Amino acid sequence: MLMTSLPLAAVPLSGYTTLRVGGPATRFVSAESAEEVVAAVKGVTAEEDRLLVLGGGSNLVIADDGFDGTVVQVANRGSKIDSLGDGRVALTVEAGEDWDAVVHQTVEAGLGGLECLSGIPGSVGATPVQNVGAYGVEIAQLLISVDLLDRDSGDVRTLAASELALGYRTSMLKNTERAVVLRVRFELADGGLSAPIRYTELARVLGVRQGKQVPVAEARAAVLELRRGKGMVLDQDDHDTWSVGSFFTNPVVTDAVLPAVMSQIAGVVGEDTPVPRYPAGVGTSKLSAAWLIERAGFAKGYPGPDARVTLSGKHTLALTNRGNATTDDILVLAREIRDGVLTRFGVALAPEPVLVGCVL
Ligand SMILES: Cc1cc2nc3c(=O)[nH]c(=O)nc-3n(C[C@H](O)[C@H](O)[C@H](O)COP(=O)(O)OP(=O)(O)OC[C@H]3O[C@@H](n4cnc5c(N)ncnc54)[C@H](O)[C@@H]3O)c2cc1C
Repeated sequence: MLMTSLPLAAVPLSGYTTLRVGGPATRFVSAESAEEVVAAVKGVTAEEDRLLVLGGGSNLVIADDGFDGTVVQVANRGSKIDSLGDGRVALTVEAGEDWDAVVHQTVEAGLGGLECLSGIPGSVGATPVQNVGAYGVEIAQLLISVDLLDRDSGDVRTLAASELALGYRTSMLKNTERAVVLRVRFELADGGLSAPIRYTELARVLGVRQGKQVPVAEARAAVLELRRGKGMVLDQDDHDTWSVGSFFTNPVVTDAVLPAVMSQIAGVVGEDTPVPRYPAGVGTSKLSAAWLIERAGFAKGYPGPDARVTLSGKHTLALTNRGNATTDDILVLAREIRDGVLTRFGVALAPEPVLVGCVL
């Protein structure tokens, strides 16, 4: 039996999160096959016992008091590729696989689709949870289906991507423990080329026009280079990467309120200053959280080198643990930034990570 259950003292959750904060779990189970994940989750039955599903801990902010319940670490491994014909393949991956290792393997195999999602930490099973995205690509564009344990019925079911309510950094799986993803299926292209490059900055680095395809390994290398420059690739020697990536999502505003929001922003930064704004689906626009944070007076590295938590020195959207921070320290800075942006621009920033046992 590979499944391991550890006593309380052995499992401070700070060792399992990329922010390196979080108190202990009452029970901790590491499940190394889909069957073990199902058994461990079904074992959480008592009314007072709560469940926390853990992948790579790269999108979790866990309270200093820890988690009074059972943590199930999803650690099932394995993958397979099936031809779909017409130069397309289906990649099926167990949820506990490391995301970037899988992306790397697909790139080595000349499969196109995932390359722009290079360098994102965490597990495969978590990628549909917040519809992971970067550099113009989202999981929703590649996902065929997931196999999950539905905790209400106790059944293992296959749900098509269209049934998961995938949206901007969200899905029906986020902020709930109702279902546990066991494996994920993606549709990729054979033939060595990337998906069309949509992101302006990436196209510029690659020296191509938007919409062009490039050799898949070139796209991955360029994405990794861009991400490293922003502190968005984990590096244990670089505190700028001790984060959850972006702490806030980019605010999405409806057309109805956009003129008032733009006018308040212009009142602060001046009519002549261009405000970054992107289409975000019918009747909505997305503003840049990083731009708003910086313009609200929170520069890279804020509040300064002696603080236990600072904005990354490379990107204003990442709150970073400088080595000895607590969760409370992180929340204090997050609140200051959220409130500063709200006061100055009237825009409410929402956290991107899942908060466990704490609120902003
Ligand atoms: C340096 C850095 C850069 C990042 N860059 C990006 C980026 O570019 N784009 C982006 O979208 N995200 C980014 N992130 C956020 C994070 O890496 C992703 O959200 C990632 O998919 C989280 O995976 P995880 O396994 O670490 O999830 P965890 O943090 O372990 O869990 C996150 C949530 O998902 C749930 N969960 C985890 N596994 C499962 C499962 N198998 N079934 C059901 N629920 C599950 C957890 O219960 C929790 O609620 C970044 C983070 C860091 C630290």
